[in-house]
Amino acid sequence: MSVFLAIVAIWLGLGLASVRPAIRLAIPAGLWAGVLLVQRFAPQSALAELAGDRRVWLAGGVFALMLAAYAWGLRRLRDAAAKEDGAPGTLGAAASPASDPAMLSDAELDRYARHIVLRELGGPGQQRLRRASVLVVGAGALGSPVALYLAAAGVGRITLADDDHVSLSNLQRQVIFDDADTGRPKVQAATARLHALNPHVQVTPLPRRITAGDADFVKEFDLVLDGTDSFDSRARINAACVAAGVPLVAGSIAQWEGQLTVWDPARGAPCMACLFPQPPAPGLAPSCAEAGVVGALPGVIGSMMALEAIKLIAGAGLDARGRMLIFDGLWGETRSIKIHRNADCPICGAGKGAP
Ligand SMILES: [Zn+2]
Repeated sequence: MSVFLAIVAIWLGLGLASVRPAIRLAIPAGLWAGVLLVQRFAPQSALAELAGDRRVWLAGGVFALMLAAYAWGLRRLRDAAAKEDGAPGTLGAAASPASDPAMLSDAELDRYARHIVLRELGGPGQQRLRRASVLVVGAGALGSPVALYLAAAGVGRITLADDDHVSLSNLQRQVIFDDADTGRPKVQAATARLHALNPHVQVTPLPRRITAGDADFVKEFDLVLDGTDSFDSRARINAACVAAGVPLVAGSIAQWEGQLTVWDPARGAPCMACLFPQPPAPGLAPSCAEAGVVGALPGVIGSMMALEAIKLIAGAGLDARGRMLIFDGLWGETRSIKIHRNADCPICGAGKGAP
């Protein structure tokens, strides 16, 4: 034991003396190997007696090797994360995560490790997620998975807008809430849950609806996600996003079927009013309360909305601009149809401002 403590003391001493990492590792490793050799070839010697059981030394070596491999992996992740355009490298104190808030901390590197190893995301993608600010409208069936996955993924700033309270009939599908949340304002309960999930992201509760006049407010965000459940609220959010020039990830669900697209006329894709300029006739598009909705369906569509948001923010893959994805949960079928801008659209086209 005393021999082991001596080696640890030497390792710590070398660290304090700022010796190069390779030498700092090589000296204790050499001493460790020396002790093993003495135990093997001179088991009766005083040093072997002092060092104790050989198996303990072997196990200690394996453990140290695992620690070193972990530290090496963490350094690789940090190097990958530091490759962001113009970001400082990891050399020098000024570039250390502790002193530069733009760098991912060790805890964040560990948390987002499965993102950082993805070629399409990597360190730069994770940094973009961290810098992003998104508005999630509707903390309900779709808003639950959207907000949970965006917070878990490390989207830096999430504003959650909803003026509703949690009711018992929400809990069959709105998985962000607990039984104990019944009666609480949705944004309050959801914000607490998101903070508990990921303390590295900033969540702002907004206990109100988004209206067509919110363009200036919406402009502050990189992206809006709409999980509301009525034509009127969706049309208002679409109008605000078109006026602000901000892409809108929109999902909708009814019974067993869901749809998903990204409205973005500022970048060539249609807006909602290009396809649906008028509200449906009364009774043709019943709400979930009237028509029902299967509990896991918003999990599918909301997760796909979060996925679209991650791709849009990180610039990965092909997003759903100009396409509508349609998922039929009852028959297990998925389709994708092309959708186009309407030149006479009352919101984004020539029909703008027309009565
Ligand atoms: Zn339009």
